[in-house]
Amino acid sequence: MISLIVPCYNEEEALPIFYAEIKKVLGSMKTEYELIFVNDGSKDATLDILKELAKQDDGVVYLSFSRNFGKEAAMYAGFCNAHGEYVAVMDADMQDPPALLPDMLSILQQGEYDSVATRRVTRKGEPPIRSWFARRFYALINKISDADIVDGARDFRLMKKEMADAIVAMGEYNRFSKGIFGWIGYRTYWMPYENVNRIAGETKWNFWKLFKYAIDGVINFSQAPLSFASWFGIFMTVVSFFAVLFIVVRRMVFGDPVEGWASTACIIVFVGGVQLFCMGIMGQYIAKTYMEVKKRPHYIIAESNRADLEKVK
Ligand code: UDP
Ligand code: MG
Repeated sequence: MISLIVPCYNEEEALPIFYAEIKKVLGSMKTEYELIFVNDGSKDATLDILKELAKQDDGVVYLSFSRNFGKEAAMYAGFCNAHGEYVAVMDADMQDPPALLPDMLSILQQGEYDSVATRRVTRKGEPPIRSWFARRFYALINKISDADIVDGARDFRLMKKEMADAIVAMGEYNRFSKGIFGWIGYRTYWMPYENVNRIAGETKWNFWKLFKYAIDGVINFSQAPLSFASWFGIFMTVVSFFAVLFIVVRRMVFGDPVEGWASTACIIVFVGGVQLFCMGIMGQYIAKTYMEVKKRPHYIIAESNRADLEKVK
């Protein structure tokens, strides 16, 4: 059996199109399936559509959250409740082409790989400035993190159950899936494809949200910003040592001209700024730690058509 996890947030327009398409693809694959739709607190008719689909199709499971918990939580709920031998995650907006699934499955069945991940090789249809920042982000995070994060990687991937179990075992509260997939390892086949635009509805990500998500990724998967603070501190200490030496020597050679108020003020302001910046970095890590130690659940399922569930986890 193959489990497909589909996070849905306000997808009333895209869902019927997605369902028709995935049904066609699954029909051609002749495998048993469970379609796990996770309704992430949608404010439109998404849940009604899902209920309707579940009535017509035994393979449809819906998990409906008590509020919007975000795509990461929706994917986690899917992983926690998937029973298939193979598990896949895909978006409801057709940006993850269902037509790739049969090829992905046959690669896994050959046994050489544990997961097949997709990577868009173009960013066609995306604002250029967003693409530029995205590329900088991937270059940076791969330098400073030990998780392997591939440029253009989508969350769309098909994996063996054991890999899905490893993802469930990564119970961290601050989730960054691209990092988690990379961190757990396993043999992954990368399948390239051309970027596809959303079929209907609107993206839930604006530039600012993506930017914050990127910062989250860095903080969750790297300690480099913390060591930056230490290295910069050492650098400043060395510089100030030579500055003191210079001033002492000048005092002995030229006497004591009282001047340099402006430069002193500049130095104080500069050092103060650097200190606040470094404290901010520390604060980011402390805030994440705070959220982790609270051990709040990732999601709460308020409604579902399945009885045996991890309702809160
Ligand atoms: N999504 C979700 N919860 C959210 C935001 C998005 O479950 O809070 C789902 C959404 O319904 C879609 C997928 O995550 O199936 C990807 O979202 P979107 O297409 O908006 O992101 P993009 O493809 O633009 O990165
Ligand atoms: Mg999308």
